[in-house]
Amino acid sequence: MAYNFHFDVVDLPPECTELRREVRAFLRSEIAAGTFTPDSERAPFEVARAFAKKVGARGWIGMTWPKQYGGQERSHLERYVVVEEMLAHRAPTRFYGTADRQSGPVLIRYGQESVRREILPKIAAGELCFCIGLSEPNSGSDVFAASTRATKTDGGWLVNGRKIWTSNAHNSDYMIALLRTSAPTKENRRHGLTQFLIALKTPGITTRPIINLTGGHDFNEVTFDDAFVPDAHLIGDVDMAWKQATDELAYERSGPDRWVETLPVLTELVRTAGPAPGDRLAEGIGREVAHLATLRRMSLSVAGMLQAGKSPVVEAAVVKDLGTNWEQALPNQVRLLAPPRGDSDPDTNDTRFEEALRHTTLIAPKLTIQGGTREVLRGIIARGLGLR
Ligand SMILES: Cc1cc2nc3c(=O)[nH]c(=O)nc-3n(C[C@H](O)[C@H](O)[C@H](O)COP(=O)(O)OP(=O)(O)OC[C@H]3O[C@@H](n4cnc5c(N)ncnc54)[C@H](O)[C@@H]3O)c2cc1C
Repeated sequence: MAYNFHFDVVDLPPECTELRREVRAFLRSEIAAGTFTPDSERAPFEVARAFAKKVGARGWIGMTWPKQYGGQERSHLERYVVVEEMLAHRAPTRFYGTADRQSGPVLIRYGQESVRREILPKIAAGELCFCIGLSEPNSGSDVFAASTRATKTDGGWLVNGRKIWTSNAHNSDYMIALLRTSAPTKENRRHGLTQFLIALKTPGITTRPIINLTGGHDFNEVTFDDAFVPDAHLIGDVDMAWKQATDELAYERSGPDRWVETLPVLTELVRTAGPAPGDRLAEGIGREVAHLATLRRMSLSVAGMLQAGKSPVVEAAVVKDLGTNWEQALPNQVRLLAPPRGDSDPDTNDTRFEEALRHTTLIAPKLTIQGGTREVLRGIIARGLGLR
């Protein structure tokens, strides 16, 4: 059936202006106090951990969640403003970002009450870090081919197998994992998968680093060898996780945090161009900013739909596809507009520009893979539009 696909125009309500002022003032005072430098990708993890507690104390983690679970019952648009300001200041949100964006909402929707009461307030306080256990060596885009098994035992489940590309697993307290609990059926190849909350300190779990293209340690391989997970940590219905995992991916794909990773190279270009760039540079910057402004309107529209209780799976996929293509191409566009000279004086703006260009060029290839590849997103969009 064809999907009625649209992006409503959303204007931020007045309370968002006040909140934006508050968040900006907080971030500027934290930068001035030396809590973090506006360079989130390189912040040591301990900085991110300490920062999470400060953000939690302000009530800016789990903002939309019910108060009984440590939330603030604020709107998705208010959350959008906080995320946007964190990104604009390149704040180190790595400790709490995943839990705030998707793990917490999954627990609210499908977790057991005892887990909600125990875990959610700690996430909201900035005390717990989460990672996502979907991908496996033979199950990437096709997450529903997962073969890491959970087998029923007394009082819980025994987990055996391997997850891969797990961002931040080495720093995380918990993983939400998609595990095989029975075989797929003839009628539904997605049947037989179940989500679990797994405490990563559990005996039988080994985390090994995988070094990325920039030389950094961000993702990991996580091996389970008879790791015990209690019944209370079962999320949702046994064998039926494909429905809830799809919801989780919509949360994962809907925010601006998914398409502004290379933006610093544009802000550095604007800085080095100064107030009177030549015509060619001004036009080039104008083009990129026009793309950015359009993506922002679309992303805001998705936040508005979430606020209205809708499930904008297709719209979120469109924003992620357009957004990640734009952010991936950006370093090269900037290089064409302002080729680096390579002989810059250290401590000058030029060096900062060249460093931003180097770093964003190296991270660009991953952007259209993480959170769903370009081809897979287009498949989702096509299906949503009734084209396949
Ligand atoms: C930086 C980064 C962080 C990540 N973090 C996590 C994480 O925290 N947790 C986690 O679980 N995973 C994580 N991943 C893994 C990511 O989700 C997978 O890499 C991704 O889903 C693709 O899977 P794959 O690598 O197995 O590639 P494959 O699925 O093997 O795909 C290979 C190529 O084939 C194409 N392809 C596959 N299927 C189709 C199809 N049906 N139609 C058309 N083309 C298709 C793909 O688009 C791709 O180009 C991360 C990846 C990156 C790059």
